[in-house]
Amino acid sequence: MSSPEISPRDAHNLALLDHVHPDDWRNPQPQGRYNLVVVGAGTAGLVTAAGAAGLGARVALIEKHMMGGDCLNVGCVPSKALLRSAHAVAEVENAARLGIRLADPAGTHVDFAAVMERMRKLRAQISPVDSAARFRDELGVDVFFGEARFDRVAGDDVVEVGDQRLHFAKAVIASGARAVVPPIPGLAEAGFLTNDTVFELIELPRRLLVLGGGPIGCELAQAFRRFGSEVTLVEMAPQFLGREDPDAAAVLRASLDRDGVDVRLETALTAVEGGNLDGPGAERRATLECGGKNETLVVDAILVGVGRAPNIEGLGLEAVGVETARSGVLVDDQLRTTNKHIYACGDVCMAHKFTHAADFAARTVIQNALFFGRGKLSSLTIPWCTYTDPEIAHVGLYEHEAAGRGIEVDTYIQEFAHIDRAITEGDDQGGFVKIHTAKGKDTILGATIVNRHAGEMISEISVAMAAGMGLGKLASVIHPYPTQAEAIRKLGDAFNRTRLTPRVARLFERVLAWRR
Ligand SMILES: Cc1cc2nc3c(=O)[nH]c(=O)nc-3n(C[C@H](O)[C@H](O)[C@H](O)COP(=O)(O)OP(=O)(O)OC[C@H]3O[C@@H](n4cnc5c(N)ncnc54)[C@H](O)[C@@H]3O)c2cc1C
Repeated sequence: MSSPEISPRDAHNLALLDHVHPDDWRNPQPQGRYNLVVVGAGTAGLVTAAGAAGLGARVALIEKHMMGGDCLNVGCVPSKALLRSAHAVAEVENAARLGIRLADPAGTHVDFAAVMERMRKLRAQISPVDSAARFRDELGVDVFFGEARFDRVAGDDVVEVGDQRLHFAKAVIASGARAVVPPIPGLAEAGFLTNDTVFELIELPRRLLVLGGGPIGCELAQAFRRFGSEVTLVEMAPQFLGREDPDAAAVLRASLDRDGVDVRLETALTAVEGGNLDGPGAERRATLECGGKNETLVVDAILVGVGRAPNIEGLGLEAVGVETARSGVLVDDQLRTTNKHIYACGDVCMAHKFTHAADFAARTVIQNALFFGRGKLSSLTIPWCTYTDPEIAHVGLYEHEAAGRGIEVDTYIQEFAHIDRAITEGDDQGGFVKIHTAKGKDTILGATIVNRHAGEMISEISVAMAAGMGLGKLASVIHPYPTQAEAIRKLGDAFNRTRLTPRVARLFERVLAWRR
């Protein structure tokens, strides 16, 4: 099987392909019956295969496209490389606020081709870890390129790839998800970008319509605006980042406004005309509908980011009794499908579509499938972060989720406007840490952080939650001064102040008066 099309075919992308789908790869001869056959070599499949092989299992891994899946090739890695460049643009533009006068501000411009080349270089640099050669030579996994398919006629313990049959004791479906493309009249004919193609760009679209205000839409809308595109972000719901804390979304809204992203909420893209199928060359006329009124917007490219659909088609799942729904493969809490010999993990079956969630679900699958484990998905504490500027990170329950489950909470909020390091860094515009505890107790149920470094900071709260450490205890953990994480410790203090009953407060007063 020859390696997939990739664009541009430059040295970085060829190096990437050499790792994740080498042109001269020969699939091995299947080795009898495998302990585990893994379908899909994204994060979920790679972690399952590597972990199981490391414990001595005989493992086959099948990938139809590129090892590393979305995260390495068209997801986290390329997007975060672009965000770094976008962040640098903001730093330069805000330099005057920090007292730095640039010699020729008018001459400052973004070299978009260089930004994209940097991204491709870093992606290739990271790719050896996920490479086919490493999995074969260092980890002892049999790596097959081709489309996997269960086929009852061949046997209910068989996965076929090309004309080869792999027999398994247990199989794992880790086939991931792809961009949903809504059936908007004219969209397909006009041509559009998704996460599969946006990282192939070498020219900056002058006018970009981003459809969908989820994490992918918000991150890329802000980045492309900072690179110089005129960006319109269109979202049907009244709030973007629909699942996030509304206060957090409001802070991000203000930041996108400052960047000059034209945010259209409660707005639908209803039709597209013009453009062509060969990419973002020609103008597209997009009809936007808001409150019953239509408006035509002329753009050069449309980036679709309205959600993810599970890759379940063509796998022959019905034949082996693996039930699916629109959300993906149906699994129980132990990640077992409706066929007790077949498990699933990652985006193909989980509501939390994140690399780290896929990683830890894969670890649970290894325990359960190979070692009679009883690991549960529901026992994982899964934080997440949207890497906009500021970042929005969350772990545990939101206030509305707690209310929906009838759980009463106390909410503690610390704004970064009162944190010394946030002030010196210029990170004091609207960000906050919000922690929910069980009413009257210090058990942490959930937290949201809005800050440039929120993704780094949320781990402290995840650790506390996973270790069963209450908010009051966090107050006694010394945080270096000045750091922005002091905001978390201060919430511990805030909790402890609530413990001070009027009687204890009066007693303290008397002791202090006596010692004066
Ligand atoms: C733009 C973008 C940015 C993102 N940023 C982040 C981020 O910052 N942080 C984060 O945690 N998450 C992020 N994500 C989400 C993250 O990429 C996914 O959660 C993660 O890749 C899921 O891993 P997976 O293994 O389940 O699926 P995938 O990575 O999708 O891997 C599935 C693999 O299965 C293969 N496959 C499918 N069908 C078959 C078949 N029949 N036979 C053989 N192989 C098959 C596919 O080719 C693919 O390689 C981002 C996603 C996108 C799109």
